[in-house]
Amino acid sequence: MTEENLVGKRNPSSKHYREVVALSELWTELPQGNHSEMWMSTLARVARPALQRGTSAMACQALRACGRPRRPAGPLPYCLTLMQFRGQQTLGSAALPLAHHSVRQVRALDEERIMEVEWEDGGHSLYPFTWLRDNCQCPLCTLESAQARKLLMSGLDINTGVDVVEVTNDNKVSIVWPDQHTSVFDAEWLKKRCFSDAARQAMQEELFINKRYYWDSKLHIPTADYQEVLHDDKAALAWLLALRRVGIVYLKGAPERGQVARLAQRIGYLRLTFYGHTWQVQDKPMANNVAYTSGGLSLHSDYPALHFAPGVQFLHCITQAEEGGESEVVDGFHMAEQLQREDPEAFRTLSSLQFDLVPPALCEQRRVERINFNNATRDSVLDVPLQQVQPFYRSLRAYVDIMNRPENVVTYMMMPGDIVTFDNWRLLHGRRPYVSKPDRLRQLEGAYLDWDEVMSRLRILRNSVHGNI
Ligand SMILES: [Zn+2]
Repeated sequence: MTEENLVGKRNPSSKHYREVVALSELWTELPQGNHSEMWMSTLARVARPALQRGTSAMACQALRACGRPRRPAGPLPYCLTLMQFRGQQTLGSAALPLAHHSVRQVRALDEERIMEVEWEDGGHSLYPFTWLRDNCQCPLCTLESAQARKLLMSGLDINTGVDVVEVTNDNKVSIVWPDQHTSVFDAEWLKKRCFSDAARQAMQEELFINKRYYWDSKLHIPTADYQEVLHDDKAALAWLLALRRVGIVYLKGAPERGQVARLAQRIGYLRLTFYGHTWQVQDKPMANNVAYTSGGLSLHSDYPALHFAPGVQFLHCITQAEEGGESEVVDGFHMAEQLQREDPEAFRTLSSLQFDLVPPALCEQRRVERINFNNATRDSVLDVPLQQVQPFYRSLRAYVDIMNRPENVVTYMMMPGDIVTFDNWRLLHGRRPYVSKPDRLRQLEGAYLDWDEVMSRLRILRNSVHGNI
């Protein structure tokens, strides 16, 4: 979906438009130079109140309409680069309470077996009869306490007609079915489930398939305060939204060891793996992982051989080496996009070959869902037909070459108290070699989570911050 699709026709004199334009102007006036903290704290606070009254589409429209922000004199502050600019907009616009919607009238289009709702604002929505009957919210059809469907598929007439559709006095939509069963639907409930492209796009934004913001070496990693994330729902929500969209967020100010488990509790459950609930990345004798040495680690994702690789990774710096040990990350989805553009055949090979173990990239429905790549653990068993071995190597090498381009790699140095949180389905991370000294062991503590838990917490936080919508 391009940005064009998101943009509806808006009246430039509307309140939303003015607010968002004002917001974009405000961004141009931010002081230069200091950055990451601003991304998560100042900007999030500034952006949300204005944007939450509109929709992503409105924000998008208004931002486009007002053109590029004014450039202050001197170097362009990080916050005005296109990626960051978009990122800020998204961070602020993510949790959008819906405006109140009223039904003007409803009509049954019997031939098409569709109900048409006309809204007070002039818009229309269409709902197939079968879908309406399937989703009747009455106590006979839905167990409300579990939000679960009681109506069996075998009891659903998938060719049902309707007897009566009407708007009730309290602005709900009532349907009487041919068997005289009655369904009553709340206007907001219906509006949220509209089948239009725009409504579906908005819903996707709320769920798992939201827009992502690709980046390269110029990324200033979004940063938040660790304690704020622990104790303030708004900060936690901003953290998870940025994690979802940008793929990496830095938290500062975490004290002694044990914080990755604490941070995971903020969300839900840790993902238990072979390495334990949490694990210590340090130079170890008889290392059972290449990470547990002082050598460099090429860019990789963790646990790619699992059918369900851990979705999110936390790494907390307890002690840093005196020399070396810089961290590196790349945006694997951005690299995949580059590969698709520059070498479509290689992209096709990597995204379509069915590897039994460690597929390098997985693509479903023309959208890259997950990057699986770890050169250290890549198996010598390569279950592909003989003639596909060489194309596989050629394609993988093309991807890795893109990944290693300096313009794609973000390098940063973790210091004690820093926690990096990132999307392990998207980012590839690595480390430069370091000098290991017995009296100053480099030590990171790590933990994994699954995206399902993170998204669940995100939805709960969204409801608690913005009200149940
Ligand atoms: Zn019912």
